[in-house]
Amino acid sequence: MENSIDYKSDVFISYGRKDYKDEVTKEPIPGNVISVIKKSFDENGITYWIDEEGISLGNHFASVIAERIRESMIFLFVCSRNFVASKWVDRELGVADEFDKHIIPFICDDSYKDAKVVMYTASLDRIEFFGNFNPDKEMKKLVKTIKKYKEELEEKRKKEEETLRQKQKEEEERKKREEQARKKKETIKEIRHLATDYRVHSLQQEAIVQQLHEMNLSIGIQTKECPVCKNISPIDSIFCEKCGFLFPPLYAIDGNARYPFDKRHLAVAKKNYDAITLVKNEKDNLEKKVGELEKQKIGLETELERVKLQFVSDSVRQDLIIPVKGLSIVMKPVVGGSFWMGAQKADPSGQNYDSEAWGDEERVHKVTLSSFYMSEVVVTQALWKAVMGTTVGQQRDKANPEWPMGGEGGEYPMYYVNWNECQEFIKKLNVVTGKSFRLPTEAEWEYAARGGKKSLGYKYSGSNTIGDVAWYWENSGDKILFGPWNSDTIEKNNCKTHPVNCKKPNELGLYDMSGNVWEWCKDWYEEKYYSQGPQDNPQGPSMGSRRVLRGGSWSNYARPCRVSSRYGSDPDSRYNYIGFRLVLPQ
Ligand SMILES: [Zn+2]
Repeated sequence: MENSIDYKSDVFISYGRKDYKDEVTKEPIPGNVISVIKKSFDENGITYWIDEEGISLGNHFASVIAERIRESMIFLFVCSRNFVASKWVDRELGVADEFDKHIIPFICDDSYKDAKVVMYTASLDRIEFFGNFNPDKEMKKLVKTIKKYKEELEEKRKKEEETLRQKQKEEEERKKREEQARKKKETIKEIRHLATDYRVHSLQQEAIVQQLHEMNLSIGIQTKECPVCKNISPIDSIFCEKCGFLFPPLYAIDGNARYPFDKRHLAVAKKNYDAITLVKNEKDNLEKKVGELEKQKIGLETELERVKLQFVSDSVRQDLIIPVKGLSIVMKPVVGGSFWMGAQKADPSGQNYDSEAWGDEERVHKVTLSSFYMSEVVVTQALWKAVMGTTVGQQRDKANPEWPMGGEGGEYPMYYVNWNECQEFIKKLNVVTGKSFRLPTEAEWEYAARGGKKSLGYKYSGSNTIGDVAWYWENSGDKILFGPWNSDTIEKNNCKTHPVNCKKPNELGLYDMSGNVWEWCKDWYEEKYYSQGPQDNPQGPSMGSRRVLRGGSWSNYARPCRVSSRYGSDPDSRYNYIGFRLVLPQ
């Protein structure tokens, strides 16, 4: 291909000698056409090759000429009679034709009519340089033609180079893809090969490991120690149950770390185990602490509950001790509640059955009371004297100086006091103490006599055996009496009151509720009141002629000493068997 050649010159100039130089002097003939062409080419930057010497070198020369033609882009032949006559014309034109050169005939005379020239130039653009020629114009035309061809060729060459580069690039990429595909194919083949090898080796390894386990078992080695957490695992374990460490297949077959394993694996496993252990220990400690705190909390809550209950119960149940002029009144708490008041003898299986019940104790009915305090003992002669300034003897004299005394001394019950004097005493006592003492209502008295919430259901206050809790006619004199009740015998036996806390107290710690002296209550006495009274904190009838008396006395037989027994007396009456007891509201 012509365009693959690196041209050494733009133009090969083929010409006849006689058109250029004088044969004798070897000097260019003045005004010759070849010199005109050369000058024009030099001026226009067109390179060319021309045989200046014109010496014949035979075949060697022919080969040099042929090479120069091949190395030139354009074959220019200066056509003249001399040129046609030259023996080289045929040969040079033949070479140009053979190399497919762009041939430009430059016609100087009518030699173009020659058959040979016609043959070579028939299809070519000719440049004529004879007749009315204008050298400048014709040379310009030649230079222009050459330059144009040169440019076209250059363009064509560039295009072809570009195409070639593109093709080369595509080829390179195709080769690269092919190479990658080939390498991938080879790698896959290799992987498959290795995988097969691995499977085979794994199976072999498993078989070996199994065999070694069996051998170990056969000589009595059944366990191995974890290198991370020191836990003991069965010899054929794959991983440690405690810390999760994966045993290398041949690890510790003989119970020791005889077979080396990946040190990084062990280091990481140890680090992880340490971290987990640390966290676990921390967690255990915290849980333990939480448990302890929980226990403490429960303990404290229990303690708080106990203290609260204690506080509540203490505030309700603690005795009140009220000082009065060097003496003190002990008030027992009576926690409020409901109880069945009264008694009946109609139905032995019914509520508050008592074969000794009197008619005024019926009907049995439910009563609900608020909490209150009741004095541990009846008002003593000492307390009366401290508050009122009078003695029991002086009180007796108000009734009748002939009447007998019923026991004298500070710790003896005060008697010979009527209901109204009791109110005066309470009025003074309240002034002295700043409290709100009063007489018990009949319901309060019976509730307290029965033991309140602590009631054990006794017939007498605190016992079913009257002698344990009460001074009554049989035990209140010099000798123990028995048989039918008789007032003469009582008088002869010197029966009387006794110091206030000599018998057993009842369930609430109250003394002498049964026996010793009858006790004034706040209420008017009304035989039928139980059928009409309200359930809550009953206060007795609004009117009446007698005030309630409760508990029996030293001069009575047992029946009036029962907790439900009722009696009444004129509020102005005074006897040596009637005293009273105090109540304080809560
Ligand atoms: Zn472990």
